[in-house]
Amino acid sequence: MWENFEFKIAWCPICSQGWVEIVKDIETKELYVMCNECENEWDHPLEVKTSKARTEINENLVTIPTIEEIQSVDWGKYIIKE
Ligand SMILES: [Zn+2]
Repeated sequence: MWENFEFKIAWCPICSQGWVEIVKDIETKELYVMCNECENEWDHPLEVKTSKARTEINENLVTIPTIEEIQSVDWGKYIIKE
């Protein structure tokens, strides 16, 4: 599930072992960012720097958003390009 690193936006500041990536909640269709290792979540890519992760522990079902969905919230500029 986490082998697609296409939309990574930061190296995780909490676990230092994974990438924070843009994901989409399947139920609410909301985009947010989540570490692919420790699964900490943030509402916005810029919040990752502040380490103010959400503390809720729930089993959100997420999927990888399309590039159009990312552009619709203007998060394309946060994606790390190699
Ligand atoms: Zn992490």
